[in-house]
Amino acid sequence: MSTFGIKILQKGRNKMWSVVIGFSGFLMLVAATYDLLPVGLFILVISLTLISCGIILYAYEAYRDVPEGIKNNHNFFNSLSSRGWLGWLTGMVLTGFYILLYWFPEYLGQGDKSNTGLVAFFDPLSQLLKKQNASQWFVYGVLYTLAILIMGVKFIWKYKHSKYQLIRTLSVIFFQLAFAFLIPEFMLRLNMPYNDFKNMWPLNYYFFDGWHLQEMMQNGNIGWLMLIWGVLMIVVVSPVLTYFFGKRWYCSWVCGCGGLAETAGDPFRHLSDKSIAAWKVERYLIYSVLVFSVVMTAGVLYSFYSGISSIAGVNTASLRSIYGFLIGSAFSGVIGVGFYPLLGSRVWCRFGCPMAAILGIQQKFFSRFRITTNGGQCISCGNCSTYCEMGIDVRAYAQKGQDIVRASCVGCGVCSAVCPRGVLRLENGSIDIFDRGKKGRNFSQ
Ligand code: SF4
Ligand code: SF4
Repeated sequence: MSTFGIKILQKGRNKMWSVVIGFSGFLMLVAATYDLLPVGLFILVISLTLISCGIILYAYEAYRDVPEGIKNNHNFFNSLSSRGWLGWLTGMVLTGFYILLYWFPEYLGQGDKSNTGLVAFFDPLSQLLKKQNASQWFVYGVLYTLAILIMGVKFIWKYKHSKYQLIRTLSVIFFQLAFAFLIPEFMLRLNMPYNDFKNMWPLNYYFFDGWHLQEMMQNGNIGWLMLIWGVLMIVVVSPVLTYFFGKRWYCSWVCGCGGLAETAGDPFRHLSDKSIAAWKVERYLIYSVLVFSVVMTAGVLYSFYSGISSIAGVNTASLRSIYGFLIGSAFSGVIGVGFYPLLGSRVWCRFGCPMAAILGIQQKFFSRFRITTNGGQCISCGNCSTYCEMGIDVRAYAQKGQDIVRASCVGCGVCSAVCPRGVLRLENGSIDIFDRGKKGRNFSQ
């Protein structure tokens, strides 16, 4: 057998072993859910390490020795990434997990006084970090962070020749690990209120809830710092950064939802619908959610300060509950992540996130960010449109040599990374921002 043949064989064998390793860790989690494993930090660490090592080894085998360039080979033939049976199964498992997490946590083992099952399995780690038993949200936080970490490593291997992708991925890993997980957990250990300093309203839809405002105001300097920082993020930090860098500073570099979509969701990015009809639905839906969130927040604030529970016969607490159920849980969690293998990785960001809607408006009308296109070089291969997770028909702009200024673009840069001709560039230009959306740059003239 040739050396090449032996290499392929070895690769296949190593990949198989990595699947066995990862799957045994996953089986341990499943066994823990049914109380079939003893609770202990050691055994939890073994389970999570096996899962991590399995995925990382698989990615290493898949992307080592690969020549420069992004490889998406077999994407449309792989059952997982092409809505085959494996894709549907993964979608159902994820959706089921989210339904239990939001509405039936007792089936995961969440108890009033003590935990059982999966939640109890995480008790030792929770005790170590914050001296409290775990909750279903702690379990979710650990798994979510781990998913971004290990799938982030996979992403870095896949896109290793793109400096932009490398830095961007390290950024989302850092913000998830430090800001969304470790800092809030240590704050709880120190008897401070839980706070994710990078999560702002309206994505953080409970920020202006009465109980949350009270909690912040009753916690002295640190509480007031949280309150002031939260408001500053909305009115100063976010608009200024979006002016200079577009919505990518948040959606692709900082946000946890974006972080998961970019790492764990990467194998599904091509499943986003590119049709004009989807673009229409996107605009109606995302701005409707934004209006809903503004009305709901205004109602909640009105009730908090006036003590009156209804406006025009509408109970503001009920409005808040409906928003939490429909948008906060069903849309962002169950559909947003559960449907990755069916509708692509950015369903929530594209159709539902009110934060993305606000950043999108700023990006379209008041930002220097754009993707410039060198139309003369475009060979119309369509790679850019295929792998745009936001369903933008990038090729149509490239063919015309027109700058791309779209509210939905999260600036992930993957269109540019997969372009074989170097047609697309992400830029924070200084040209007249009010003009550039109307005028295309035509290199053929
Ligand atoms: S990937 Fe590049 S060459 Fe291919 S259609 Fe898009 S812009 Fe044109
Ligand atoms: S247009 Fe390019 S940078 Fe923008 S979301 Fe699509 S793939 Fe990402």
